[in-house]
Formats: sequence, structure tokens, C-alpha cells
Amino acid sequence: MATLKAVRGTRDLLPPETELWNRIEATARRVFARYNFGEIRTPIFEDTALFARSVGEETDIVSKEMYTWEDRARAQSEKAQSLTLRPENTAGVVRAYIEHKLGESGQLQKLYYIGPQFRRERPQKGRYRQFWQIGAEAIGPPSSGSESPLRDAEVLEMLATLLDELGIKGWTLELNSVGSSADRARYNEVLRTALVSVAPKMCVDCQRRAVTNPLRVLDCKVPEDQPLIESLPKIGDSLGAEAKEHFAAVVAALDSAGVPYILNHRLVRGLDYYTRTTFEFTHGGLGAQNALLGGGRYDGLSEALGGPRAPGIGFAMGLDRLVLTLQAGDLNQESAPPQVALDAYIAPLGENLNAAALTLARELRRAGFNVELGDGSFRLKKSFEAADKIARRIVILGEDELQSGILTVKDFTRGTQTKVPRAELAAFLATAAGE
Ligand code: AMP
Repeated sequence: MATLKAVRGTRDLLPPETELWNRIEATARRVFARYNFGEIRTPIFEDTALFARSVGEETDIVSKEMYTWEDRARAQSEKAQSLTLRPENTAGVVRAYIEHKLGESGQLQKLYYIGPQFRRERPQKGRYRQFWQIGAEAIGPPSSGSESPLRDAEVLEMLATLLDELGIKGWTLELNSVGSSADRARYNEVLRTALVSVAPKMCVDCQRRAVTNPLRVLDCKVPEDQPLIESLPKIGDSLGAEAKEHFAAVVAALDSAGVPYILNHRLVRGLDYYTRTTFEFTHGGLGAQNALLGGGRYDGLSEALGGPRAPGIGFAMGLDRLVLTLQAGDLNQESAPPQVALDAYIAPLGENLNAAALTLARELRRAGFNVELGDGSFRLKKSFEAADKIARRIVILGEDELQSGILTVKDFTRGTQTKVPRAELAAFLATAAGE
């Protein structure tokens, strides 16, 4: 029988690698808390219409990458419904914002999430069909200051801090403004017109994009197309005065905070809902999939989903890509996973001692020690070998030890062997651990 494997584009995360995942998540939670972001958890699947209306029908995500199915009605009271595994999380957060009337508090809502997303993309290094995002959104009624360029700058400054604290060096913040939705629509038409004569000289994908979604032409990576793209009108020239002023204020706040960035007039991003500020943090070590994270402002998204006016700004970072970057040797001292050995390995000398060993392990574990338990069927030599690989010490539990209540503890790092009364074992491990 053919063995079953994880589905193409999905993978298992195993220890010790999961240590690094947890460390990244813990750092993110710590940093977000400092900026007053609280956690939101939205469902992994949503009504398909949510993504069609927010991300946009014409985008790659909605037009070809979503995992969508028709959910059958199970009772007369239910209707069949088209459902989709979330390809991103901003739509879900804004849906929740509207559904729970979070805007009625009048406060800016600062929400973060950590979770899996699903896109049927061509798998490659750094690109999976189930991948993980850490993201955050600052959204609220205009009276809460949600439109302020300060919010954009705060989010960007927070991201620079987070990447620094994760120990990711060599990132680049690329920044642009796509203007209001009217500016963006105007530019789309300017581009469409300009592309009439240029597109026939470009790659087939660009020829298609020139008709379906002209902004996407700016994302083209084909080397021969680059000079043609540079010759196209730039979005900066289509921005209205308000968008220009907003962007200038974002840039000034970043300058004042000392957050480095470069301007990239081609950064328009794949999702339809972006307005004004758009950004990406890239990293050279990632190869073709070099975006660590992306985000921007989405001032009209809540209204597009039938909600109240609620401008917002947010980002999503690829957790898989953070892990790849850190594994590629970009670790600094603080973020390098320390080589933690277990506090003790308990070796029962005989199967009749297994139960007593479990009891001892239970006591130590409840006292907060990390302990592995051997099996009495092992010979002493095998126990030593197993213990030496993973633990700092081995605690021998034989018939004599059980009777006398005096345990033998061998410390591998120091090469010492000590007799310790059972009642003092926890204290012994604690002092020895502290040295
Ligand atoms: P996006 O929602 O497309 O703006 O993506 C935001 C971030 O999520 C990207 O910068 C990547 O780091 C990450 N990401 C997006 N798609 C994938 C994928 N298929 N596999 C792994 N990471 C991804």
C-alpha cells in the first residue's frame, strides 16, 4: 500500500525546529503588547464572498489560489454555502470588527493574530500552500485617529523593532503610497492607456495584466521587461494633494524616529484593498521569495464589506520566512536557541522499578524540572548513553536506592557522582542548576 504523505505545499514542523517558531511567536507577542496590541483569533474558514469583496476578484489570490468548496446543508434550516480556507487574515479581522461593532467604543482597535493561511500557489522555498502569518491591524473610526500618518509610522517602527529583537539583520523597508482609491483608479487608467503601446513588447503575463489588472505589471520580474516598466508613468504623479501630504508625514515621522527605508514607486502590492501607504520588508537571504512581510493602509475596506467608515493599517509577516532567515545563519546571541539539556534523566534499573521511576519523575516535573524517563528494560549502559545525549545528569534508581532512599546522581558536564537523599533531590538539582 502506498504510504500517505503530507499534501504538496504543506509540511510538518518538528522539534527542535518548533522551538524557534515558539521563540519568534513569543517575541512577537511581547513586542505587540508593548505597543498595546491585543490578540484576535478568527476562524480558519470564512464565507467565500468575504475574500472576493476585500482582496478583490481580479487578484491572483481570489482568481486562482483559494481553497474553496461548497458546504452542503445538513439540515433544512441550513443553506448550502460557498466556504474558503482563509488566504490571508485582514479580511477576517475587519469582518470581526464590523460584526462585533468594535468601532462603537470610539477607540482605535489594535489587534494582532498568529495563524495558518492557505493559498494554492506553486510550492518552492519560502512558498507553501499552508503557511503561517503573524499580522496586526490598527483600525477604528476616523475620530480615533485611525487615519493619522502617526499610525503608519508607529506600525513601521514597531516592525523595525520586532525584526531587530528577533535578531534579523539586513532587512530593507521598502515604502510607497498608492494614494486614495480615486488616485489609484486614476493611475490604473493612466497605466492602462500607456500600456496599449508598451504591453505588446512585454512578457505574456504582462500582456494579460495590461488588460485585467494593469497595476500588476509593476510586479513583473522578467529582466527584459524592466526598462519598459521604468518608462511607464509613476504612481507618485497621480497622487492627490491629500495623499501626498499624508505620505510626507509618514516619511517625516520615520526620519525623526531613525527608521531606515527606501522609496519604491513600484510597490503597489497584490491585494485590491490597499490605499495610501504600502510597504514591504525584504531580506536578501531569502532568494526569489524575498518578502519577509507586507502591508499597508486600507481606508475603505470596512465600508466595502458593508461596515462603518473605519480606516486602518496593518501588515502580515511570513512566519515560515522568518524561520528560514534565522536558520540561514542570521542569528544573533539573544535569538540563538540555547542548547538546553534536560535537568535529569531517570534510569530505573529493572522493570519492577518503572512505577517508582514514574513517581520520582512526576515529583521532579511538578517541581519544575525538565525530566526524561528511561525504561527498566534498558541495561545501565544503554541508559547512560541515552541520558548523555539529552540530559545534564542521570539519576539511578535501583533496588538499593529505593530501599535506602539515597539516589545516585551523575553529572555529565562536571563528571561528578553524588549520593543524594531522595527528599533533597529537587533542592540538589535547583542549586546545581543555578551554578
Ligand atoms: P501577502 O498577504 O501576500 O501580502 O503576504 C504577506 C507575507 O506573507 C509575505 O511577505 C510572505 O512573507 C508571507 N507569505 C505570503 N504567501 C506565502 C506563501 N505561499 N508561503 C509562505 N509565506 C507566504
